[in-house]
Amino acid sequence: MSDIKHLARGTVQALTPYLSARRIGGKGDVWLNANEAPDCSEYQLDSSNLNRYPEFQPPTLIQAYADYASINGASISPEQVLTSRGADESIEILIRTFCEPASASTSGDSILICPPTYGMYAISAETCGVQVDQVALDTHFDVDYVAVEQAVNAPNSQVKIVFLCAPNNPTGNMLDKAKLVDLLHAAKGKALIVADEAYIEFCPTLSQADLINNHENLVITRTLSKAFALASIRCGFTLAQASVIEMMSKVIAPYPVPDPVAQIATQALSIQGLEVMRERVAILNNNRMVLANSLQQLDCVTELFPATGNFVLVRFTDAKKVWQAFSENGVIMRDFASKDRLENCIRITIGNIDEMQVTLKILNSL
Ligand SMILES: *Cc1c(COP(=O)(O)O)cnc(C)c1O
Repeated sequence: MSDIKHLARGTVQALTPYLSARRIGGKGDVWLNANEAPDCSEYQLDSSNLNRYPEFQPPTLIQAYADYASINGASISPEQVLTSRGADESIEILIRTFCEPASASTSGDSILICPPTYGMYAISAETCGVQVDQVALDTHFDVDYVAVEQAVNAPNSQVKIVFLCAPNNPTGNMLDKAKLVDLLHAAKGKALIVADEAYIEFCPTLSQADLINNHENLVITRTLSKAFALASIRCGFTLAQASVIEMMSKVIAPYPVPDPVAQIATQALSIQGLEVMRERVAILNNNRMVLANSLQQLDCVTELFPATGNFVLVRFTDAKKVWQAFSENGVIMRDFASKDRLENCIRITIGNIDEMQVTLKILNSL
């Protein structure tokens, strides 16, 4: 081991870094591997204040997000919103705020995840020296609420945060509101329940944000990276009661969101920006329906997971062969075949019409 490696914390030495779609990379010109939007809008930048540190939580941005989030029965005030460097930072701040890391004398707190799901919950916990407990999704890839509740309330449970994801990346499953409410009651005073709604714009009526005012232990994470087509600016949001936001505000960096990011994000959340986003969502949802219908007809497809976000997980008879055909044609997808219970599965991001046609053409040629 090199001297420097030896200096790093034991947990960091042992860590396998998250392999993001961008890090895995690929060769080609059709990028359907990272659930990015296929188009980009234009924004105005005022650079006259770049010599100044930005606001801790830019008030116009926070107000704009609170207004935007107050739909479908939700009522979110600015005190219930925290903006961060993407939803990924929100995940990390939650863990650093609520979970005691393991020490020489104690095993510390843990988070609970329901795999197969988004990989960053476990990575963030491991980076922080926090244990990861698991309650697998049930046979339909839905949350096993009873098992989660039992895990949280087990006599020796150290679970402080339960991460749920809906639409779940990569399986697309949603949450059951009544069962979530039961879980929130059962976990009250013991654990936070986080609903990761990175893709909620693609099915906005299924948000759980309307539950926030009644449940202090509910946290919702959001992002501008997917439906808002702003993955590059790194801007995310946490929605929760003010008490949760106050605790997180103690831990987050003093200037988490650069001023140019706040400017762009505020424009994206304007009435006009929201209109552009909703048009994009309508187009992508339609493209998804067309793709799903065609996939259903194909002999090489054995299973189509619920399509709720801007992606669809597909199980093929022979994913290796499909993967190779995509690669040869410069189409980059996300491979899940090596993940537990996702044998032969590939996740396809919903792109524009041309990208969907290329995808189907390749699959039809198999
Ligand atoms: C993409 C994604 C995120 C990360 O969002 P960023 O704001 O880009 O950090 C969080 N959760 C899920 C489920 C995602 O798919």
